[in-house]
Amino acid sequence: MARRYEGHAIGIDLGTTYSCVAVWQEQHFRVEIIHNDQGNRTTPSCVAFSDTQRLIGDAAKNHAAMNPTNTVFDAKRLIGRRFSDPEIQNDMKFWPFKVTADTHDKPVIVVTYKGIEKQFSAEEISSMVLTKMREIAETYLGSPVKNAVVTVPAYFNDSQRRATRDAGKIAGLNIMRIINEPTAAALAYGLEKRTNCVGECNVFIFNLGGGTFDVSILTIKNNVFEVKATSGDTHLGGEDFDNKMVYHFVQELKLKKKVDISGNPKALRRLRTACERAKRVLSFAFDTTIEVDALYQGVDFCSSITRAKFEELNMNYFRKCMETVERCLIDAKMDKSCMHDVVLVGGSSRIPKVQQLLQDFFNGKNLCKNINPDEAVAYGAALQAALLSGKNKFLQNLVLLDVTPLSLGISIKGDLMSILIPRNTKIPSKKRKGYLTDLDYQKYCSISVFEGERIRASDNNLLGFFILSGLTPALRGHPLVVDFDIDADGILNVSAMDETSGCRNEITITKDKGLLSTQEIKRMIQEAEIYKVEDKQYLKKARALNALDDYVYKMKSAINDVETSSKLNTQDKMKINSAIVKARNLIDGNTKPEIAVIQDYLKEVEVLIEKSMGKFH
Ligand code: ADP
Ligand code: MG
Repeated sequence: MARRYEGHAIGIDLGTTYSCVAVWQEQHFRVEIIHNDQGNRTTPSCVAFSDTQRLIGDAAKNHAAMNPTNTVFDAKRLIGRRFSDPEIQNDMKFWPFKVTADTHDKPVIVVTYKGIEKQFSAEEISSMVLTKMREIAETYLGSPVKNAVVTVPAYFNDSQRRATRDAGKIAGLNIMRIINEPTAAALAYGLEKRTNCVGECNVFIFNLGGGTFDVSILTIKNNVFEVKATSGDTHLGGEDFDNKMVYHFVQELKLKKKVDISGNPKALRRLRTACERAKRVLSFAFDTTIEVDALYQGVDFCSSITRAKFEELNMNYFRKCMETVERCLIDAKMDKSCMHDVVLVGGSSRIPKVQQLLQDFFNGKNLCKNINPDEAVAYGAALQAALLSGKNKFLQNLVLLDVTPLSLGISIKGDLMSILIPRNTKIPSKKRKGYLTDLDYQKYCSISVFEGERIRASDNNLLGFFILSGLTPALRGHPLVVDFDIDADGILNVSAMDETSGCRNEITITKDKGLLSTQEIKRMIQEAEIYKVEDKQYLKKARALNALDDYVYKMKSAINDVETSSKLNTQDKMKINSAIVKARNLIDGNTKPEIAVIQDYLKEVEVLIEKSMGKFH
């Protein structure tokens, strides 16, 4: 398995709100969390489109208040889901950007880029974030990076995992493995802990991020990490806490200032940014102030909030977290007293109330905070990447076992769910089950694959559907077999066959309509390349304009300098002045000059200046 991969292999935590990239440094024998161009170790999962350029990461987030309708975040909430999904419909109320549906009920993000309306799938937006993370790593490592392990929340279903893998493909990455976020965190944690772990060690991972919440129970024994159970909520995290605070202040504004900003995306975005900041402050302070200048119609906004109020606003969410914790223990058939460690992961796990509730639940047990909660997932992903590529000699013997988050099965007579792979089965896994035909001389049989825990198949999530035709003519009760094969990424392949006649008639599950076809991925890869070129062009142009601007500035200072100016004759001065005017027109005017024009003009003025007063330094 090892050494199939050329070059570096990185770990990417593709978060709903923040992403993080890390790499195993064999020579230093440690994982390096890679900082971005702003010096930050996490990067907002955010992409902005303007009249002139595309921005990703911090730059995009900073752009959000200025251009909220064209700043896209939360793509992870959309990925692999249907537009009509009630959760998507609810999320949309909070998004300042536009989301519509294509003919297959797949969500489409609509933005205006360079004055033209553009449509993007969630996979494409996520691929842009992944590209950014890849570039961050490439800058740091000084060489191209192709291979990556990407993490997803434990509760991501099959189509969400596939769509995430598609996003990686669009970003030109070779996705070595998709792993669950809590598993990655456990891997990071386990490495430190493993050596002093005597016998078997049960770890409870509590991962509360910006948009999702996962909990997992793992058992670490010798070199094996086994996920015993996972549970979670794809819609619970820091953003929900921000929303509560935003709503609180919107109400306050209505009461105190008699203004309603709820229909104004720009004002809401600015208020949200201030609320997120305040929330972070409240993790160490007991109260804080919120100030937003000219929030709405020139009215300044200034208010304060206490930690107690913040906790009160979000208490229902916090309680919900604890219910999930309890459910996970029930699933694993384990008592809370069996947990050796409770590990905090995700930025929102820093909230004191959350920590207190968790600690109380575990009867006062000390929580493990020794891993940076924002970085643990990427850390683990980097370890896994090193492990898969055979880079990490130390990790060679580690075996990582994961489980299916939902039961997988097919619908049988009476719309019943017949489970082949139960929830929390270790993956990869293969299961075969025999079925009987319902009718005499049945020619074909339709097979619908579902995931979920409901007894009625149609109440679960339909993953795909296919027909097994060419059955041997026989009376009802003719045997058929169905095979489920779930790979290490948690991605499922289903086939069915009629064994009696000896002729194998095997059909693999057709792709869900919402997923991307190979052609679509190909097109998106091409488009991603175009955007990359455009971004580079933009940067080149910005650099050329800056160089010219810089030069104009120097020319101006020279002219204004009495000593230099006295050496120039009137004709030279006039020439320089008109050169300054022309340059300013190029820089500020509406003509949008080509890069070559700017560069040529810079050369032209340099010659002119050199002739009249020598070279600037
Ligand atoms: P995700 O992986 O879902 O993107 P992260 O684990 O990166 O999320 O956590 C991001 C969330 O954590 C954001 O909502 C952010 O506001 C929140 N957060 C970060 N630091 C703190 C803090 N000190 N107190 C409370 N929340 C925080
Ligand atoms: Mg995360």
